[in-house]
Amino acid sequence: MSIEEIAAEIKDCKRCSLWETRNRAVPGRGDVHAEIMMIGEAPGKKEDELGMPFTGAAGRILDEMLAQADLKRDEIFITSVIKCRPPKNRNPKAEELLACGTHLKKQVSSIKPKIICILGNVALHMLIEPNLPIGSVRGRILKKEHQRYYPVYHPAAVLYNRNLEEVLRKDFEALPKLVNGIR
Ligand code: SF4
Repeated sequence: MSIEEIAAEIKDCKRCSLWETRNRAVPGRGDVHAEIMMIGEAPGKKEDELGMPFTGAAGRILDEMLAQADLKRDEIFITSVIKCRPPKNRNPKAEELLACGTHLKKQVSSIKPKIICILGNVALHMLIEPNLPIGSVRGRILKKEHQRYYPVYHPAAVLYNRNLEEVLRKDFEALPKLVNGIR
């Protein structure tokens, strides 16, 4: 399936109850042949209004980090593990992650990125291992089922803890070189 076909499926999706409270599903955006895919948690208020990923305060941090790393949004593909906003930004439930994971798997199969940059704990727990603290694996390449992953703190974490800003910046800055080194 193409990314456009998957996006159309997501916009009509009713696989979990989050469709009842969403304004817009947020399939993701970017280069359909991207070497880097970034996967966050779920849409927030602004993303739900606009149908676009990372458009709120966390999006501004993400843009800063991308600029520091000399990466452009249109060279990567950005999405999240959950495509519809959980009410009041609560954490996604296990059954929602399971239901929405089908879309994410299709997106990864379609894009075939060299590396998946995991943004934060929720995506890390879904994609790598439940209960693994992001602080223990951030900035390292992990391999699972022939796919390379690169976990970093979620940009929103910087909004609550400014001490993480420098760590996140360094992890982003290391990313282009890591990707270039992958054959
Ligand atoms: S969160 Fe995912 S599975 Fe649930 S309705 Fe939205 S697109 Fe479908």
